[in-house]
This record gives sequence, C-alpha cells and structure tokens, in this order.
Amino acid sequence: MKKIILILTLLFTYTCFAQSFTSKSKIYEPTSYLSMMEFLQRIAKNSDIIKLDYLGVSYLGRKIPYITINSGTAGNNKKVKFLIFAQQHGNEPSGKEALLAMLNEFSSGLHKDWLKNIELIIVPQVNPDGSELQQRLTANNVDLNRSHVNLRNPEVLGLQKLFYNFMPEVTLDVHETNYYRADWLKWGFIKTARQNMGIVTNPNIAESIFKLANLKALPFVKQYLNKRGYSFSNYLLGNWNKGKPVRFSNLGIYDGRQSMGIYNTLSFIIEGKNGRNITDSLTVRRNGQLANIKGLIEFINKNVIEIKKTVADAREKLVHAQEGEQIIIRSKFVTTDSLIRVMMINIKSNSDTLMSFRFGGKVKPTLIIKKPKGYLVPKYDNLLIELLKSHHIKLEPFKLKENENVYEYKIFADSTQIKKHKNFKVEKKQAINIKRKPYYFVPINQAASNFICLIFEPQSQCGVNSKYGLISDRKLSYFLDENNIFNILRVETK
Ligand SMILES: [Zn+2]
Repeated sequence: MKKIILILTLLFTYTCFAQSFTSKSKIYEPTSYLSMMEFLQRIAKNSDIIKLDYLGVSYLGRKIPYITINSGTAGNNKKVKFLIFAQQHGNEPSGKEALLAMLNEFSSGLHKDWLKNIELIIVPQVNPDGSELQQRLTANNVDLNRSHVNLRNPEVLGLQKLFYNFMPEVTLDVHETNYYRADWLKWGFIKTARQNMGIVTNPNIAESIFKLANLKALPFVKQYLNKRGYSFSNYLLGNWNKGKPVRFSNLGIYDGRQSMGIYNTLSFIIEGKNGRNITDSLTVRRNGQLANIKGLIEFINKNVIEIKKTVADAREKLVHAQEGEQIIIRSKFVTTDSLIRVMMINIKSNSDTLMSFRFGGKVKPTLIIKKPKGYLVPKYDNLLIELLKSHHIKLEPFKLKENENVYEYKIFADSTQIKKHKNFKVEKKQAINIKRKPYYFVPINQAASNFICLIFEPQSQCGVNSKYGLISDRKLSYFLDENNIFNILRVETK
C-alpha cells in the first residue's frame, strides 16, 4: 500500500512539474482548469507586476481568473490598455495555451520593453466549464460569443464588466476556426492559413478605427507572422465549396469583438487553424496563436501614440454625440466584382492552390435613422434596468422639458413573428399618457451612444443574435403592450 502511495505521489509530482508552459514545450492535452489555476497562482505570487484576480464565477462554480500586468514604469494614462481573452468556446484550447506560455515568459522577466508602453489584461479562459467538458458551449449550453448584449451567463457578464472597468483601447478575442468541416473535406480543399485575423465590421464604428486596423495592424501582423513561418489571412467566411461569394463576419454587436468595438475600440478577433480533434497538433496550434498575439502586441508597442489618439478622438465623438446624428440600424452584404484570392490546400496532393472567390462583403446600409436626444426606459422594468447598469449605461431622472416631444413606436408584428426574426414595419408617433409611468432618461451622449441606439431601436438588425435589438430577446419579450406599442420611447427636441 505504501509503495502505491509513493508511486502515486511521484506520478502526481511529475505531472505537476511536467507542464512547464514554455513555448518550447510540447503539449499533448489541453491544460486542465486545476493546472492552469496552480500555474497562475504561482506566477502571481512570485512577481511584483503580475496580479491575479477573478472576473466572476462560471455556471458550475469555477472562478474565472484574469491577470493584469503593469510594470508601472510610465504614467498609466500614457500606456495602451490591451485586453486579451481566449476560450469563450471550450473546445478551442490553443488560445489559452498561448496565453499561458506568454504569461510564463512575463514571469521569467521577458518583454520588459512592451510593458513600458502597454498595460495588459489577460483572460486565458472565459469558459472553464466548456473547456473541462471539451465543448463549445457553456455547461448550460450558452454560446458566450453570441451573448455580449444580453449578458445571459455570468462568464460573459464578468468579461464585459472587466471591459468597462478598464476601457482598454485595444481588445483581442482568441478563437480557433474549424478547418476540418465535413463539406470541405468532401470538396477536397481547406484553407491554408494557420492564422486568420478579423477586424470590426459594424458600419457605425469610427472609420479611423477601421482604417488603423485594416491598413496598418493587419499588414503588420501578416508580415510579423510570415517572417516567422506562419501563414496568415484575413478572417473570411463563406460557402467556399459552393462557388458562393466570401465576406467578413457578421455586423451584429453580440460577439466579443464587436460589442467592444462599438465603443470605438480597436478590437480584433483571431481564428487559429484547429486540428482534426481537440489534441491534434496542439503544440503547433498554440505556437501559431502565440506568434499572432505577439505580432499584435508588437504593433501596439510601435504605434502607441497613434492608437491612443485615434481611440480617444473616436470615443470623444460618442461622449459628445448629438441628436440628429445618423446611425445605420440595418444593412446588407452586397457582392462586388472584385475577387479575393485565398490560398487553399488540396488535401489529396497536399499542395497549395491559390483560388479566387467573388467578394460579397461590401456593407450597404438599408435603414439609416437619426439619433434622438435620448430614450425613455420604464423604471419598474428591473430586468432591463439591471442589464443597462451591467453595460455601464448612464441613466438619469426624467422630466419632460417644454421643447421636447416623446415618440413611441407601434410595431406591425406580434411577438412570435419578432422572435422568429421576421421583417416588420413600425410607425413612429407622438406618445400620449407618458405621465402614467415613471421613466429613466438614457442620454445618447455617452460612451455607449451607438450601442444604445442599436439595442433600443426596434428595427435594429444588430442587437441580439444578429437580428433586431432587445425587442427580439426572449427574456424581454414583454416589450410590446396590448396595443403593440414598444416600451422604450424616444425623446426628441421640437
Ligand atoms: Zn470560437
């Protein structure tokens, strides 16, 4: 018996120390939650600059760690704050592995030059339950990367709170993309690029942010990766095998990248190439992700002043947003004549082939409206008020001024049609009897300006699950009263 205990102890010790978290070490299994926690606690204990904290507790009760790294060598307001989060999807472990390897390097004293210019906030694993279960969704079957507006789960609620507390200039959401889909394998070609990186696409995000990302950050990261032997591509979606046009990802603000981007944040998503299963070539996958993350940090490090100024100017416009400014609440993708060339691997011959696809990702606005002075939300609506507070949205007491009118929307659809995301018409008319209910006033001149319009306007296509705003949220389906009047009102100057 003693012998068995000794062997077990030795085995346990070996397993603990076997995981060295360096980028040189080979990994055969995703790091478990317990090993990750042990590692994070150890590096935080041994370092003055690495701090460990928790953003919340998962559905099954696991504490979700985040690390801040701030060397304190410059005034914090001179540094770029960079929030990196990985593994919202539990079956995509390589981003977490990359972040653990990078944290290990910081704890060994590397990357001091980055810390002069950058303050890092790192969440290696947003979805610990899904990771332990090796599944995409959380333990209660929620896709966290579709829940950044409705904050349906504690994991994503905690992540958004972290975002609002730090208000980082740059954010990065790390994923893996599925290369081994059955229809691709049947077709015989898969994408070549090990690393894919996407930028913000919602047309209301400042042009200056879009340009900085598209014209400077992406080419920089591409070159950084290519120099190190990793292939790179813009993150593109499409039914490649059916001759359909390809495009960038959706315009909705429900995911990690766009929900933060809509605050005029320089926000990115990485989609690393996955394996045939969760463990297949995990070391290569981790190293690709690590190089991609480092490439973006290097870009930030070299462009601190421009990034800080671009983001600050763009956010200033939101804080000073004015009634009557335009906001695009519906748009569609249009196919253009231009071709996008993508390197594909022929699976049989294992050779690269450059293929051309029509580009179908030009964004054409189909419904543009004017921002009101603000919105009215019913004070008694605890669920809604709590949600707005979680999003750090400013609420003020409301008293109608003489030069103001209040408008309501009559909706020409019932709640079932709305839930099914059918298109519907609305009629805006002056509200009567608003004195019957007490309201909070939600001004549009705040950081959340665009966010507010996109979730409040009933016809908005960009709020929840890419279709419509909060009106289509199942939990808030009481939004229509008996006369089909929408519960959120617009305040406009006469
Ligand atoms: Zn994912």
